[in-house]
Amino acid sequence: MTGRNGHHLDTILEHTGRDPARNFGIVNPPVYHASTVIFPTLKTLLETRADRASGAFEGITYGREGTPTTHAFEEAITELEGGYRAVTLPCGLGAIASSLMAFLKAGDHLLMPDQLYGPARQLCDDVLSKFAIEVTYYDGVIGGAIAALMKPNTTIVYLESPGSLTFEVQDVPTIARVAKQHGAKVVMDNTWASPIFFHPLAHGVDVVIHAATKYISGHSDLMPEVDRVHYPALPDDPGYGIWSRDFLGASGLFGFTLKPCSDRAIAAFLDHMDLFKLGYSWGGYESLMVPTYPATLRSSTRWEAPGPSVRIHVGLENVDDLIKDLERGLERLRTTA
Ligand SMILES: *Cc1c(COP(=O)(O)O)cnc(C)c1O
Repeated sequence: MTGRNGHHLDTILEHTGRDPARNFGIVNPPVYHASTVIFPTLKTLLETRADRASGAFEGITYGREGTPTTHAFEEAITELEGGYRAVTLPCGLGAIASSLMAFLKAGDHLLMPDQLYGPARQLCDDVLSKFAIEVTYYDGVIGGAIAALMKPNTTIVYLESPGSLTFEVQDVPTIARVAKQHGAKVVMDNTWASPIFFHPLAHGVDVVIHAATKYISGHSDLMPEVDRVHYPALPDDPGYGIWSRDFLGASGLFGFTLKPCSDRAIAAFLDHMDLFKLGYSWGGYESLMVPTYPATLRSSTRWEAPGPSVRIHVGLENVDDLIKDLERGLERLRTTA
């Protein structure tokens, strides 16, 4: 990717969202903690109020509506995604809910991929359903055949690619084209790729969502006890074709399915890892792993796997140390009946 002044991505990353002239020359934007903002006159108070009411995002009116720190972050994300504007929300699920509710109204129809992030599915089933919004879960790898699912009241086609537990890659340009032909907006969760490895707006998406609580880096490893690795950057992954066509790289989150094994064996594997900690979310600088249960989170497709599934986030630890940790874990798995 090249951006402003033809600079490369790594150069843009060093400069985006930073405007020292606005902050006494301080090179990185300081963190502003704020709720109340004071206005010198009634006139300025009313002007900023009118700006907000007209949908402008400029100006500092109240902490929750954005501070110079959040605006700097939003500018950076906007530039990296090649978008028009970005809005920061307290968490990724909040961003999903806000994006959906910005377009949906009672009586609308929403198309969600069956590989959807679990809590977003819960939002649809438990909350949106109460507001007379009809949700259809489609097979994420449906491609152009999504045309058959479009209804006159389909307002949003939502994508998550690769699916964050099972890593199916969606044909974003094709699905976006069909959605547009039917007058629907296209909203995509791009958390896995980050703004570095995939640019949904360039492929026909209207709104991009990131769970900025996640972060990304790393390498991938291959193992013996494993039935299948779910990682679109591997040539034998079913998503490899679309991934290599549309994406610029691969992030450090992937899944694998184990061969059939006992509950004791998987506990022996997961309970005694040295570097990979056990927990939800993705991990950060530190590596994380979590058992996943994709079959329980589907309704229009079936997840068939011979054994338990695990998801790994590769952090910034030395890759040889991480591989050793996994090798020892798989050895425990192998030797536990
Ligand atoms: C974690 C995650 C979210 C939600 O992010 P939070 O900040 O935890 O609410 C959304 N989408 C994907 C793909 C995620 O992994």
